[in-house]
Amino acid sequence: MADARPKILVVDDIPSNVHVLSRILKDDYDIYFATDGEKALDLVQTRLPDLVLLDIMMPGMDGYEVCARIKADPATHDIPVIFISAKSEVEDETRGLEVGAIDFITKPISPPIVKARVRNHLLLKRQTDLLRSLSFLDGLTGIANRRRFDESIAREWRRCARSRQPLSLILLDVDHFKSYNDHYGHQAGDECLRTVAAVLADRVKRTGDLVARYGGEEFVCLLPETEEEGAMQVAERLRSAVAESAIPHAHSSVASHVTISLGVATVIPNVEVAPATLTQTADQLLYQAKRGGRNRARGALLPVE
Ligand code: GH3
Ligand code: MG
Ligand code: MG
Repeated sequence: MADARPKILVVDDIPSNVHVLSRILKDDYDIYFATDGEKALDLVQTRLPDLVLLDIMMPGMDGYEVCARIKADPATHDIPVIFISAKSEVEDETRGLEVGAIDFITKPISPPIVKARVRNHLLLKRQTDLLRSLSFLDGLTGIANRRRFDESIAREWRRCARSRQPLSLILLDVDHFKSYNDHYGHQAGDECLRTVAAVLADRVKRTGDLVARYGGEEFVCLLPETEEEGAMQVAERLRSAVAESAIPHAHSSVASHVTISLGVATVIPNVEVAPATLTQTADQLLYQAKRGGRNRARGALLPVE
């Protein structure tokens, strides 16, 4: 999928203009086209193109309006828009850039220039997308990082509050990891964290679920629309999966292999309350699991406020 051809949406009310552009670009890109603003917005939503080439003067919704709407929607905001227009006054170009276009090409077009600009903007888009996706990944383990978790819990909190669905959270921590590092070395410690992360990611797969590195040797699983009982089942599955991966730990008081302790909290969210209440509760439950002997899960359902 990573090498899929970029998708370009061409919008112009005159079919022959669409045809000219698609002839220039179709060897390198997948071309979609629309001959009015409504249809263009529809395709932007459903196809999520990598770039939009947009005419200004169209009957009904004009190009400025189409561009402004693409930019107003968080789901499509990052799609670059290039105006291709016969309007060539300074004011036209200024207005186009003001509504969020990244570039402006005047008609009649020159095929090599269109090709070059399209290629440059797609390259920039790809780099931006890559940087953004990397900024949400943990460098050591390759799973989601704390930033991604913070964003997800805020979003799922609102969503579950609206739909009055439970939201569960598992906070887990590797047992006696300090002595693991002390005896096997920091590099082996890193390797152990990578293995644990992979085991967790492999066992939490339902759409909407998230596994992230919370920090140090702590990980977190966010389980939307999951009751306390279901979350405890997931926690138990994770606990036994880590134990069964049998990473030797000769200096643990719990077992001869690496184990984890887990705190499992469930709540029906309320937008008046901060998501941190769920994390704090899971943290307290994790502490109880540690005190209760480690290699176990402790769960609780938060009262509805
Ligand atoms: P407990 O069973 O109570 O959780 O004890 P613990 O030893 O696991 O807990 P403690 O918080 O005392 O130690 C955590 C250790 O995790 C200390 C720290 O050096 C290590 N650690 C945190 N992040 C990393 C990391 O990225 N790599 C490695 N190798 N070690 C890490
Ligand atoms: Mg620990
Ligand atoms: Mg810890």
